[in-house]
Amino acid sequence: MYETLALYIDGEFLSGDGRDTEEVTNPATLEVLGRLPHARKADLDRALAAANRAFESWRKSSPMLRSEILRKAAQLSRDRAQEIGRNMTMDQGKPLAESVGEVMSCADHADWHAEECRRIYGRVIPPRSPEVRQMVLREPIGVCAAFTPWNFPYNQAIRKICAAIGAGCTIILKGPEDAPSAVMAIARIFHDAGLPPGVLNIVWGVPSEISDYLIRSPIVRKVSFTGSVPVGKQLAALAGAHMKRVTMELGGHSPVLVFDDADVDRAAKQLARFKVRNAGQVCVSPTRFYVHEKIYDQFLSSFIDTLKSIKVGDGLEPDTQMGPLAHARRVPTMEKFVDNARSLGGKVVLGGERLGEKGHFFSPTVVTDLPEDSMLMTEEPFGPIAPVVRFNDTDDVIRRANSLPFGLSSYVFTNSLQTATKVSNGIEAGMVNINHFGSALPETPFGGIKDSGIGSEGGMETFDGYLVTKFVTHI
Ligand code: NAD
Repeated sequence: MYETLALYIDGEFLSGDGRDTEEVTNPATLEVLGRLPHARKADLDRALAAANRAFESWRKSSPMLRSEILRKAAQLSRDRAQEIGRNMTMDQGKPLAESVGEVMSCADHADWHAEECRRIYGRVIPPRSPEVRQMVLREPIGVCAAFTPWNFPYNQAIRKICAAIGAGCTIILKGPEDAPSAVMAIARIFHDAGLPPGVLNIVWGVPSEISDYLIRSPIVRKVSFTGSVPVGKQLAALAGAHMKRVTMELGGHSPVLVFDDADVDRAAKQLARFKVRNAGQVCVSPTRFYVHEKIYDQFLSSFIDTLKSIKVGDGLEPDTQMGPLAHARRVPTMEKFVDNARSLGGKVVLGGERLGEKGHFFSPTVVTDLPEDSMLMTEEPFGPIAPVVRFNDTDDVIRRANSLPFGLSSYVFTNSLQTATKVSNGIEAGMVNINHFGSALPETPFGGIKDSGIGSEGGMETFDGYLVTKFVTHI
């Protein structure tokens, strides 16, 4: 049984009533899983009114109550992880172990927000005269509109929801129409955890129509989006025109720097497995591989051997290590990246093609000897394709790593403390991982710079985007 799909507005699950619907399909089997109702304008108005009304009481709620509800949501996520994971694999495609792992890690996100929301402190500023008091208060910003994508449907939604409601805000969230079960499950979890009606509202529909309507509404005070750079810029521009706060978690093109003093086999094996995680549809996926010329052949051979051993298939099969791409449109996109590299002299040394007749499968792919201005080296492939090129100078590779307008994550493999320090100081990225993959934990900030976004989620920064500062002075 797949998830029952509905809107969730003012504490009610709504569907039918002549609303438009869209088909949700399984990317591995193309089976139709269900029909998702679209919000009408009246539904959006109802969600706005509910979020606005609920804000009046939720903003005054005790942080202890918010914490208790977030803790319950964490526990329910753990209790339901198998079922939620199975549905997520069916509509998104990733292997079951990855789906269940995503839900379990999100339980930790909810727990961590439950802790931190009890510690949203202001401060007292020493006055110039003894009879004056000066205080800085941090208050919830108001009603938030959030838009989350399909690649980590549970994670990206719950991070925004926990930060908003932990801060005392209310939220209307539009989840990914093509992989909606995870966000539906989150709505049920918060409903069952006792979140008051209107604090969380879930809507679906045509993404551009919904975002346009919600961002323009004077009720909405904050916009949070995870997705591609072009859409993020469009939504940030609209939010800016209406003077609304934004958090933008956008695309990346993470450089990987493997130095000649690294543990080469370990780096190659770990990078290969990390590259195919979620079929490469990860904003922090290792994307451009710069490998020192002295260890280039050794790295490439070990990297390719590990990728060859990856079992690609339906995510519900127990031995699958990489599932299909999430949509039909992603397969021709992968082909375009590979064709462009080939046309510029690149060598496809592994994969490079669609797999099988049915489902949106694409093989793990490695391309070498391609120019720095090829599509693969400059645009986010968002799939299981790795371009690998050589370098021989540290300053030069840092310059090449910083040459794109993105700045999300980056990966460095070296056993030299001096090199690690030089690269982490020089690299323009929101996250630098040295000799391991350590981002996206609840307690650490996750976010990009340059075109990759504005603001951070997680870490002690998580509530910053959801709070306003008020200065109070009295005598
Ligand atoms: P896309 O830009 O069309 O959509 C990305 C997400 O944004 C989807 O969930 C979509 O529903 C939503 N969206 C699109 N237009 C919107 C609008 N006007 N208002 C509100 N939401 C809107 O891209 P896609 O084909 O779905 O995915 C491919 C690209 O998206 C990738 O190349 C990658 O760069 C990016 N992406 C990034 C992330 C991330 O985690 N940063 C996640 C998913 C996709």
